[in-house]
Amino acid sequence: MDTKKKDIRALSKDDLRSFFEKIGDKAFRGNQVYEWLWHKSAYSFDDMTSLSKATRTMLQAHFVINNIEVDTMQRSNDGTIKNAIKLHDQLIVESVLIPTKTRTTACVSSQVGCSLDCKFCATSRLKRMRNLNPDEIYDQVVAINKQSLLYHNIPLSNIVFMGMGEPLMNYNNVIKSIDKITSNEGLGMSPKRITVSTSGVPKIIKKMADDNVKFNLAVSLHSAIDEIRTQIMPFNETFPLNDLRASLEYWYSKTNRKITYEYVVWNDINDKQTDIDALVKFCKYVPCKVNLIEYNPIDDGEFQQAKPSVIENYIKSLEKHHIVVNVRRSRGKDIDAACGQLANKS
Ligand code: SAH
Repeated sequence: MDTKKKDIRALSKDDLRSFFEKIGDKAFRGNQVYEWLWHKSAYSFDDMTSLSKATRTMLQAHFVINNIEVDTMQRSNDGTIKNAIKLHDQLIVESVLIPTKTRTTACVSSQVGCSLDCKFCATSRLKRMRNLNPDEIYDQVVAINKQSLLYHNIPLSNIVFMGMGEPLMNYNNVIKSIDKITSNEGLGMSPKRITVSTSGVPKIIKKMADDNVKFNLAVSLHSAIDEIRTQIMPFNETFPLNDLRASLEYWYSKTNRKITYEYVVWNDINDKQTDIDALVKFCKYVPCKVNLIEYNPIDDGEFQQAKPSVIENYIKSLEKHHIVVNVRRSRGKDIDAACGQLANKS
C-alpha cells in the first residue's frame, strides 16, 4: 500500500471533475472515472479502458484504489457463504451471503470489531479497530452480489447491516455507502431492500428520521426491562429504554415506517411472564413487528436458548395483542456465520 497517494474513492464526482479541470483536461473525464469506480467497480486504473493510457498512468501516479479482497470463503451445508474480507491495511471483516429459495441476502459489516459490549455476541470480544469507509462497505456488497450471481443465478435481493460493528456508530460512512448502493450510478438497489440494525443510539435514530432515509430500521431489543437489558447490553446504561422509545416514536412520526425488533429468548434472563409483558407493552409505543431470533451459542454456555414452550408463550402473548411475530431460524451456524458469531476465527 502506498500511503502517500490519496484513495480516489474518497473523492466525490464533483471533486473528480475539478481535478481534471485543474490539470487542463475536460471535466467530463471525472464522470468517466466516477463511473468506472462505482458502477463498474474497477479495482485497477488499467481496467478503465475508455481512458487513454496516459490518463491511466497519470491517475496511477496520484491515487490508489483501496479495494477489498475476499481472503477466504467458507460454504455452509445450507448454502450460506461466509467471507473473510481483507482490507487495504490487512485488517479483516466478515460478510455473509444468505440464500433462500427465492432470494439472496448480504449481511455486511460496518466496523472492524465493535465498541459495544453485548455479552452474547462474539464480535464484542474483538476490540473496535476502526470504522469502515463507504467504499469498503460498498465493496462487500459488490463481492456478495457476484457470489449470488455465480452460485444462485440471481442478483443480490437484500442487504442487512447485521455483520460486525454498530452501524449507527459509523453513521456518516454507512449513509454514504447506502447512497452509492441505491444510486443508479452505483448498484441501483432499492432502499426498501436494505435494513440497518442497531443496538439503539437514540440521537442517531432521530437524525436518520430527520435525514428522511428510505431504508428499514431494526432494533436489537432483547429485553424491554432496563435492568435486564443493561446486564446483557451494558450500552443500555447510557441509552436507556425511555430514550430509545422517544427516538423510535420520533422515527415513526417522521417516516411512517414500522420498526423491527430483534429478540433472543434465553433461560433465566428473559424467559418469564414479566419479560413478555414488558415486551408487549414496549411494542405498543410504535407500530412494529418482532423477530424472535434463534440463539447462536458463542461461548461456554453462559447463555442458553430458552425452551420451545417459552418461545410459544412469547408468540401467544404477542399475537393476542395483534403484534406481528416471526421466528427466525439461523443460517450458516456450522461455519460460524450466523448472527453474533462473526469473530474472525479463521
Ligand atoms: N450492532 C448491530 C448489528 C450487529 S448484530 C446491532 O446490535 O443490531 C446483528 C444481530 O445479531 C443483532 O440483533 C444482535 O443482537 C444479534 N446477535 C448478536 N449475537 C447473537 C447471538 N449469539 N445469537 C443470535 N443473535 C445474536
